[in-house]
Amino acid sequence: MIAPGEWLGLLGGGQLGRMFSHAAQALGYRVVVLDPAPDGPAASVADAHIQADYDDLTGLNKLAQRCRAVTTEFENVPAHSLHALSAHCRVTPGASGVEIVQDRIAEKAFISSQGVPVAPHAAVHSPADLMTVGAHLFPGILKVARLGYDGKGQARVKSIDEALDAFKEFGGVPCVLEAMLDLKQELSVVLARGLDGECAVFPIASNVHHEGILAVTTVDGQTTPLSARATDATLAIARGLNYHGVLCVEFFVLKDGQLLVNEIAPRPHNSGHYTMNACVTSQFEQQVRVMAGLPLGSTRLLTPVVMLNILGDVWYPTADDLQVEPDWSAVLAVPGTSLHLYGKREARRARKMGHVNVIGQTLAQAIAAANQVVRILRLPVAA
Ligand code: ATP
Ligand code: MG
Repeated sequence: MIAPGEWLGLLGGGQLGRMFSHAAQALGYRVVVLDPAPDGPAASVADAHIQADYDDLTGLNKLAQRCRAVTTEFENVPAHSLHALSAHCRVTPGASGVEIVQDRIAEKAFISSQGVPVAPHAAVHSPADLMTVGAHLFPGILKVARLGYDGKGQARVKSIDEALDAFKEFGGVPCVLEAMLDLKQELSVVLARGLDGECAVFPIASNVHHEGILAVTTVDGQTTPLSARATDATLAIARGLNYHGVLCVEFFVLKDGQLLVNEIAPRPHNSGHYTMNACVTSQFEQQVRVMAGLPLGSTRLLTPVVMLNILGDVWYPTADDLQVEPDWSAVLAVPGTSLHLYGKREARRARKMGHVNVIGQTLAQAIAAANQVVRILRLPVAA
């Protein structure tokens, strides 16, 4: 066990790292962040900041000297950096699991190997690979295999010709071509798996995306046959990866009831932000508990909740570039709201700036209050 008061290390400096730092500090830990940016959301709240690239050996050495455990907040940390750190300190999640999920081709192969279905797809390494893909993959989405996020590195394609153009546009890097599916619903499951293999699963989240970015998450704590299947698949994936840490699996539900895995995030997830105000333990506290070797916390849902993402668009109420501060007082006057802003210096369209959790005694109350916030901030999707 790593006792409160000691240092915990974090690779990555975004909002997930900021919320991790807050949770670690609430438990009495000190946090050192390694992030190449000078004043990112995590570095600006952490107790110490090592400004270095994720593969800078000097920076990684400094991090390893400072702390006995390191975690990550984004999946694109080079796996070899995690591997190098693991010679000196505890690293959760470990390099081998992260390495699989940071490559969509390896990730899909791994998920299938666990008996869990994924979307119909083909790996694309060259234009020749595209020439031979089946017609069932069109219309489809070409996704870069590595380093994509928030819908970046994705192109919707209707034909082989369009796919060839998109592949060229992405610079010929390895991709997957996925069939465009008719989705009934999107779900996600966040869980924590401790150093001893013990798992704690959070209630299932129902997600609505807008332009490829999560907009709304709704959680009522009900279990259904579908949520049980999703939970079982998530547990199988976490065990199959021999994963230690917090992990999220995103699911697609098709019109015919099929449940497929979209992707795995080896870290806390945007669709788990609701846990900050609606569960006994947040996903970030759970991340701290795993790396410190503490018992996992209760994932019990205390109340129905709606999470609304706040993108930079909210600062631009008109079509021009005139920036207007959103009416936070009006948001906070709505009963049940908790506002979380990430301290980003600049509001840009499509950039995640914060989120609002809205709780209610019933799901209907939470939704009604969330829709007041939707109207105040003119969010693109209602709850
Ligand atoms: P993030 O990191 O935010 O999860 P990402 O860049 O990894 O995003 P995906 O999760 O692959 O992107 O896709 C984002 C969203 O686009 C999905 O949640 C879904 O709404 C839609 N989408 C992706 N793939 C498909 C598909 N094959 N069929 C239908 N919709 C899809
Ligand atoms: Mg996704």
